[in-house]
Amino acid sequence: MNFTFVTLFPNLIYPYFEDSILSRAKENGLIQIDCINPRDFSVDKHKKVDDYKVGGGAGLLMSAQPLFDTLEHINSKEAYFVFPTPAGKSFTQNDAKRLSKKKHIVFVCGRYEGVDERVIEIYADEVFSVGDFVLTGGELPSLCMCDAISRMIDNVLGNEESLLEESFENTLLEAPSFTKPNVYNDSPVPSDFLKGNHAIISRLKNRMAYAKTCFHRPDLYKMVKNKRNYHAK
Ligand code: SAM
Repeated sequence: MNFTFVTLFPNLIYPYFEDSILSRAKENGLIQIDCINPRDFSVDKHKKVDDYKVGGGAGLLMSAQPLFDTLEHINSKEAYFVFPTPAGKSFTQNDAKRLSKKKHIVFVCGRYEGVDERVIEIYADEVFSVGDFVLTGGELPSLCMCDAISRMIDNVLGNEESLLEESFENTLLEAPSFTKPNVYNDSPVPSDFLKGNHAIISRLKNRMAYAKTCFHRPDLYKMVKNKRNYHAK
């Protein structure tokens, strides 16, 4: 899978792929990362990429020309253009799974007060928010999405089975997990985990996943309950 980041700050992107799982994925040819800087496409003699908003308003926008020319330059039939923006719908695990089937994703990272809306209207295949807060640029949201998508690609994770029990599979959060020692600072691992009975452990994990979801994410809990009631009818 190819990932292209359209960004004024490629140095924010490349180091993320220099360590750990995604560095291995890159070395093994499972993902390819490249950056294109719209500044290189600016026809302005000072290589300007921003401008004031038409009609007034605070701050600057990434202007249309450098971005249009950058995206035009990408010119790949397989390119799927994703724009991070606080105005988008929330990016979810299902989106990560779905997008992991694409061949080439292009993240268009906004800066300043965002990008000229015409670029989004013409190029965006999807727009996503990574949460109800405003960051200084689209690089972090794009890296978040790229990371979540990459780990859904076959063979990127060592143990693909771990995906099956993860949070948001079947809408639930993952059950609490423990490691050794069995008692730490007077705090024990739930005793059923220690008995080696996989059916009991699995039931316990399921109950704990429900309890954790109910506590931390009542919105998801409600969805699971509604689904179950629907299927019970
Ligand atoms: N003026 C914009 C607004 O109020 O919606 C915010 C622009 S923000 C300072 C600059 C860029 O950061 C955006 O164009 C987008 O690419 C990125 N960004 C900031 N917060 C984001 C979020 N929560 N989700 C996705 N992208 C975000």
